[in-house]
Amino acid sequence: MQTIGLIGGMSWESSLEYYRVINQRVKERLGGLHSAKVILYSVDFAEVEELQHLERWDEAGKIMANAAISLEKAGADVLLIATNTMHKLANFITEVTNLPLLHIADATAKQIQQDKIHKVALLGTKFTMEQDFYKGRLVELFGLEVIVPDESEREFIHKVIYNELCQGIILDSSKAKYLEIIAKLERDGADGIILGCTEIELLIQADDCAVKLYLTAKIHAEAAVDYALSC
Ligand code: GLU
Repeated sequence: MQTIGLIGGMSWESSLEYYRVINQRVKERLGGLHSAKVILYSVDFAEVEELQHLERWDEAGKIMANAAISLEKAGADVLLIATNTMHKLANFITEVTNLPLLHIADATAKQIQQDKIHKVALLGTKFTMEQDFYKGRLVELFGLEVIVPDESEREFIHKVIYNELCQGIILDSSKAKYLEIIAKLERDGADGIILGCTEIELLIQADDCAVKLYLTAKIHAEAAVDYALSC
């Protein structure tokens, strides 16, 4: 089994989920007392969040690069960024290490393709919903059609992520509004909904709605284990 290097803490609420899912998957695959070989590099999310919102992406990229170098030195064989948004800075990591970086959008898109779904909606931070680093990858590399909520809904989703979910606050009122937005996206023709922020699955689970949901933290963590066990 290879050692998974996890760049986490963005937020730690979802990194906990990664750690749980990674170990759960190893247990499912190998049974008994088996558990995952994992090294976690956890950042201070307040620093990262400030740089994101000030659009000082290069400085945030240096934090990512430093984490990757540390994980490589510590013995990681494969790297994961435990957040969708910070995949915007994936190139800062690939520039400083030759370790494979398993991209969260690729793992998710492969599942969508397996399900033979073509049109999906993407929920996440405004960075993820509005910029091209994530949507563009889904469209260009996987041929998916991707829609996003309207502007006021994107604003609401973004605020809930930073002001509630990343701080461990789970509110029924926010869940109800998210489910309303999902129902609208389904009416707009989405056959699948990407929960493209690793905290959203702390609020909404697969059985909360009829439409197929793609839980990116879970998909990413499981894909990492399958990779680590295949090498
Ligand atoms: N974890 C979130 C994501 O998957 C948001 C936090 C961040 O900005 O990294 O995008």
